[in-house]
Amino acid sequence: MNLDIEEIKHAEKSQKMYQEFLIYVEHENVEFDRNESKNLELQLKEKINWFERYLKHLEKGGKRIKAGADYWAQHENHYLTIEYGEDEQGDIEQDILFIWCETCSDIVSSHAHEKSKINEFNEIKNHLGHSVISSRENRNQKAVCLICNDCENTRTILCSEVSDWFDEI
Ligand SMILES: [Zn+2]
Ligand SMILES: [Zn+2]
Repeated sequence: MNLDIEEIKHAEKSQKMYQEFLIYVEHENVEFDRNESKNLELQLKEKINWFERYLKHLEKGGKRIKAGADYWAQHENHYLTIEYGEDEQGDIEQDILFIWCETCSDIVSSHAHEKSKINEFNEIKNHLGHSVISSRENRNQKAVCLICNDCENTRTILCSEVSDWFDEI
């Protein structure tokens, strides 16, 4: 069996980070109002549980999560926005776009301005600053789409398919 050790380490690290964030949110009432912090706690618990299932999947030799669709599907029906990326100093990076989840206070996916992905980058950039949701018509369908709430036309920004294993874990 071929284990993806690198991804297992990465997933363990992410899970730990969310656990620490959860402890912080539970104990600090300064930064968040009560409802907001309750919602965030729920989202974080969901995420931590997801990582637990994902780690089991990886430990059985499962494939790693795919950029894009698998991440969008994790934030189904959350409040997403499209923002410019930031570098480590917090300066705006116009060559990187973030899909940001307001519900989870977390980055969903980042999209770099690369030749191979220029169409994807431009499609997303057309909706910079707009409010977006990710949506699947039903569980039996692999396609997940990013839908813009602010545009009348071109509401569907991008669609992509989740990994075969995604709904099974
Ligand atoms: Zn979310
Ligand atoms: Zn839009």
